[in-house]
Amino acid sequence: MNPFAYTKPTDTRAALATGARGGRYIAGGTTLVDLMRETVERPGTLVDISGLPLQEIRATGDGLRIGALARMADVAAHARVRSAYPVISQALELSASAQLRNMATIGGNLLQRTRCTYFRDVTAPCNKRQRGSGCAALEGYNRSHAIFGTSQACVATHPSDLAVALAALDATVHLLSGDGERSLPLTEFLLRPGDTPDREHDLRPGELITAVEIPPHPQPVRSGYLKVRDRQSYEFALTSAAVVLNISGGVIRDARVAAGGVGTVPWRLTAVERRPSLGAAVGAGRRGRRGRRPPATPQRLQGGTAQTHRRTSTAHGGRHAMTQQARPAAGTPLSRVDGRLKVTGQAAYAAEHDAHGAVRGVVHGVIVTSTVGKGRITGIDTRDAAAQRGVLKVITHQNAPKLPYRSFRGVPDPARGSACASSRTTGSASSASRSRSWWPRPWRSPSTRRAW
Ligand SMILES: Cc1cc2nc3c(=O)[nH]c(=O)nc-3n(C[C@H](O)[C@H](O)[C@H](O)COP(=O)(O)OP(=O)(O)OC[C@H]3O[C@@H](n4cnc5c(N)ncnc54)[C@H](O)[C@@H]3O)c2cc1C
Ligand code: SF4
Repeated sequence: MNPFAYTKPTDTRAALATGARGGRYIAGGTTLVDLMRETVERPGTLVDISGLPLQEIRATGDGLRIGALARMADVAAHARVRSAYPVISQALELSASAQLRNMATIGGNLLQRTRCTYFRDVTAPCNKRQRGSGCAALEGYNRSHAIFGTSQACVATHPSDLAVALAALDATVHLLSGDGERSLPLTEFLLRPGDTPDREHDLRPGELITAVEIPPHPQPVRSGYLKVRDRQSYEFALTSAAVVLNISGGVIRDARVAAGGVGTVPWRLTAVERRPSLGAAVGAGRRGRRGRRPPATPQRLQGGTAQTHRRTSTAHGGRHAMTQQARPAAGTPLSRVDGRLKVTGQAAYAAEHDAHGAVRGVVHGVIVTSTVGKGRITGIDTRDAAAQRGVLKVITHQNAPKLPYRSFRGVPDPARGSACASSRTTGSASSASRSRSWWPRPWRSPSTRRAW
């Protein structure tokens, strides 16, 4: 991690002044600190805004205003949010882990950066990290990348679940800088990559998000959030949907639908919202739905132009073409809905998606990380790991070939230096990585022992 200065102002004016001089705001720190550790982000000054009075959650007539520093957990549990906007509670509760939600804030959640692996690997070309360097995901492994709103410069998804719910609710983002206040619809605030994927939102230098606001909706409103992911414990969306309906007299009068995990920004499915079938009587069942034919021509999804790639999804065993144009720009289409298989240990690994079987005898590497955040490592005991069924080799700093990773040279990082290669079928890699005795053993105290 690069050296940085830290300041914690107690009033908003002081925070804005430091922000205007190039200071970087930090709220819960749950994503920024990770990126700083990886040297993806290198702020010179951190401005800790967690003490500013921006935590309030309050009703505004029939709408709702949520302070930018309200914690995800508090918003999810808020009585009015739960009753009037279950889509928000559900999106938040399906995000990250309980510990993270206790720390993380609403503003930070909207501004979190993509989970594209190449973005977080400083040795890979990435236009979002460094404009003009290229995009490793275009020809690389892009199973979790976007199919909507992409450009030739970047195909990374926006990772926030909350943003999907807020997009469906037509939320507005309130901003404050030394020049005063302004507000923008969330869907305009978050930017598609275009030729400038490093510019992800319309936040001006030193500007602070103060709140998000949900406007009144025609009552009664019913809403919900559905998320498909690789594992249930915590994971980003392979795909998700936020649906907000106004149902009265048993008829859907108004529908707002946004999709997550598939777009470079939360993706409003405006064509879906306009579908005549959505005006059908609720509970009309098959007969009612059959009476209303879908349009003869395929409906264009929002932004469905040359940027849209061919991609398929399998939902409940069915196969649905999701786009209008057979022009893959981001690799070969892969099924994204294999979460059930993954959590039951039956899913194919990346190389096994190769239908022609060109890759034989696949070996899988598992990185084993230390459970101790701070300490001096004096040795790594690999005996238990090597004895696990299916393990072919345990690679540590002692027997690994020299790798061209900068972080290996700069910071001794035992978590990276220790890995295990295992055969797949037994699932031994994952069981081994759960085995306590198999992890690298940090030496906590004396500096007399030699660190590697
Ligand atoms: C293991 C893991 C799993 C996760 N899973 C999910 C998931 O499934 N779904 C999901 O949606 N998220 C997920 N997240 C992301 C998580 O929700 C974010 O890390 C969190 O919301 C960020 O909030 P924060 O307050 O900690 O932001 P910080 O890390 O403090 O800041 C993030 C960014 O926002 C800026 N910032 C923060 N507040 C403001 C403000 N008020 N004004 C201007 N700039 C500001 C900071 O400068 C920084 O650039 C996961 C994170 C982790 C680590
Ligand atoms: S998809 Fe975007 S974030 Fe990922 S490597 Fe390409 S440019 Fe970088």
